[in-house]
Amino acid sequence: MLTIEQLWDLKLPLIPPRSRLYHIEPVGVGTLLVESLTGYVARLAEAHCLRPGVLLERELASVLNKAYGCTNLHKIYRFTGALNGTGVMAADLSQALQNLTLCENLHFLTLLSWSKLLTSRNLLRSIRAWCPACYKNWYKTNQVVYEPLLWSLEVVKFCSVHKQKLSQQCPHCGHKNYTLAWRSRPGYCSKCEEWLGAETEIEFCTHQVISQAELEFEIWIATTIGELLAYTPSLESPLPKDRIAKALYAYIEQATEGNMAVFARQLQIPKNTLWLWCKGQSLPSLKSLLKICYCLKISILNFLMEGVESTNFFQTHRLPPTQVESKPRVNSKAFDADKVEQYLKTMLISNEFPPPSMEEVARRLSCDRRAIFRHFRDLCSAISAKYIQYRKACYLENVEICCKEVRDITLKLHNLGQYPTEARVSEFMSKPGYLRNKIVRAALGQIRHELGI
Ligand SMILES: [Zn+2]
Ligand SMILES: [Zn+2]
Repeated sequence: MLTIEQLWDLKLPLIPPRSRLYHIEPVGVGTLLVESLTGYVARLAEAHCLRPGVLLERELASVLNKAYGCTNLHKIYRFTGALNGTGVMAADLSQALQNLTLCENLHFLTLLSWSKLLTSRNLLRSIRAWCPACYKNWYKTNQVVYEPLLWSLEVVKFCSVHKQKLSQQCPHCGHKNYTLAWRSRPGYCSKCEEWLGAETEIEFCTHQVISQAELEFEIWIATTIGELLAYTPSLESPLPKDRIAKALYAYIEQATEGNMAVFARQLQIPKNTLWLWCKGQSLPSLKSLLKICYCLKISILNFLMEGVESTNFFQTHRLPPTQVESKPRVNSKAFDADKVEQYLKTMLISNEFPPPSMEEVARRLSCDRRAIFRHFRDLCSAISAKYIQYRKACYLENVEICCKEVRDITLKLHNLGQYPTEARVSEFMSKPGYLRNKIVRAALGQIRHELGI
């Protein structure tokens, strides 16, 4: 019979290491919509009730300082896209975050695994892009609202799920967001902090303005890049730099029996450029690589990973007309300055309601917005000002409606004997995102005060 003293186990229990920051698992690793590292930073900051700017400044200052020589996020906004990329910035940040959260897979939230094959030129956007319908869907189905890595790539212009163009302009304040900003929060504008999920279907029918062929091409790009990102964790080691050159050689051999000129002509690539790529002396941009894969009817993943697929070269895909670089741009050729000026003047004095944005005006004129702006800067600014004024009025109206709503909900909860916490009030609001607005919060404070709670 053992005594009580003998039964006591006085050995210290094995305590697993604790992480300094919350151990939050990234979303979608190994899927098409894997989260981006900058989006992860924003979610991590939110979990700690901090702004990403503050989190970076307090916990990751050494990473920012090493790459940019400063620790303040405000000063490096334009470069924050690189945090999801192929370089030292992404490597340092993912490693630092792995140390702080003890999550071991954060480098999959960047393009680091493909660093030897992707040129950094035009690879990542500095301006944030998002799909309002994805945000809305995740919110409605109680899923985590986050920022997929796919959206941060310059070549991806459409959401492959909703087949609609990614947004880059906040519908509330009209501003654009940087990839990572001081007040970034998944699903919300970092400037006005409003909810970016689409409220109505009308807001996201922009894809109708492009041709069917163009839409198919854009959706194919989003899907094939998504497949590449999904495959990242399965990659045992980064692919060598000469992989593209070898694949190109093999396809030229198979498709045109080694005739580079015919291959280049068929794919509408300058022959000298193709030669440099085949020799491994330069790397094609991701956009060029995608065009080649699209023409060969293979996914970019198969192009990079597999042996040569059987390609019937005479049945290759044709690129949509706007993607063919050798042709002059249809828009610039068709620019009729008199017609455009007349239309802009008409729009400026018209009583159309709601007033159209410059994007909409350019679409109606079938002209490039930048070309119109170059020719008629003042008229464009005036039309934009009218549109922004309208958006502001909408915004103020929404704020007013929400204040009234908050008041009614608070009274109702109070009468039911329930304490009107922010979370409880927001559950009943038609636009819960507005509870982050200063005026709406003040309205909640006011009614609580009036009720003496
Ligand atoms: Zn979507
Ligand atoms: Zn905004």
